[in-house]
Amino acid sequence: TPPLLVIDDVVTEYRTATRVVRALDGASLTAGRGETVGIVGESGSGKSTLGLLTGRLLPSGTRCPRGRVLVDGESVLDLPPDRVARLRRERLAFVPQDPIGALDPTLRIGRQLRLALRDTPADLAALLEQVRIRDPEHVLRLYPHQISGGMAQRVAVAMAMARKPALLIADEPTAALDSQVREEVLRLLFTLAAENGTTVLWLSHDLGGVARWCARIAVMYGGRVVEDGSTADVLSAPQHPYTGALLAADPARAKGGTRLLTIGGTPPVLTDDPQGCVFAPRCDSAGDDCPAVRPAPRTVAGRTVLCHHPGGTPETVPARKESAR
Ligand code: ATP
Ligand code: MG
Repeated sequence: TPPLLVIDDVVTEYRTATRVVRALDGASLTAGRGETVGIVGESGSGKSTLGLLTGRLLPSGTRCPRGRVLVDGESVLDLPPDRVARLRRERLAFVPQDPIGALDPTLRIGRQLRLALRDTPADLAALLEQVRIRDPEHVLRLYPHQISGGMAQRVAVAMAMARKPALLIADEPTAALDSQVREEVLRLLFTLAAENGTTVLWLSHDLGGVARWCARIAVMYGGRVVEDGSTADVLSAPQHPYTGALLAADPARAKGGTRLLTIGGTPPVLTDDPQGCVFAPRCDSAGDDCPAVRPAPRTVAGRTVLCHHPGGTPETVPARKESAR
């Protein structure tokens, strides 16, 4: 059987009044059924764009001049609108970054769930119990502003998993929660996904969380997936210099007494076809070929890497500026 999700060399461009922003610049990713993939990368690297693209949820006027997205063999970018709506309803689910904001403030939780799950014979109270909400009948009568962030996350997870989707895209579902609530919501999300055989793309800034919950990790930079492999392999021995820099800059990994490294320079904002490797200006491993020749995907140490000079360890990777902790 073909993989559940194939994103193949996609270019995506937002158009604003003054300019074009190329948010995806030849992004590729494949995910199998039931696979858990953490997608990481600095702010602006294209994670949310990749997620929205998969549900064809990008704002109108956004262009995809190149590439393909296949969900279960169906070409998402070519489907007529009614088929896209069906795909979203039957196969995909999203956990939004801001679950309270995604709810209608004028409707009680129960009413929204019923509307969202119209054609599903779901027992709403049972659905909420599944995400460990203790008094579901009470919560169903509340308005969004009356529930906590953690509760809203649980409701969002319940809503997303109600139809047992083939693919769940969770965009940093736990960003603003305290760590215990976060952990609990992530546990629920990944446990329900495992029970249902759901493939998960978790768009995240939390490398530790990805290490715990995702078998695979995809590292994005400048609108491309620059390293993609088993989470254990990638985090223990990153091959792309950017992955190494990201790890060295992760506050959760800095041991007591060690310095926290930050990645020098700023991420690119692309406007058209870039030349060479877009990480080259920030990369200590860069050679003469890097600014000139665009790296093609290659297999290094059992994973896919887009780099002319892969290798290195977290200790030797380019993390230029040092700041005392
Ligand atoms: P974050 O970690 O902050 O969520 P991200 O990896 O999800 O970042 P995206 O939101 O996909 O990154 O953004 C990729 C690029 O596209 C950025 O340069 C961003 O400014 C730009 N961008 C995103 N949405 C729009 C939009 N609606 N209009 C114009 N540019 C956009
Ligand atoms: Mg985002």
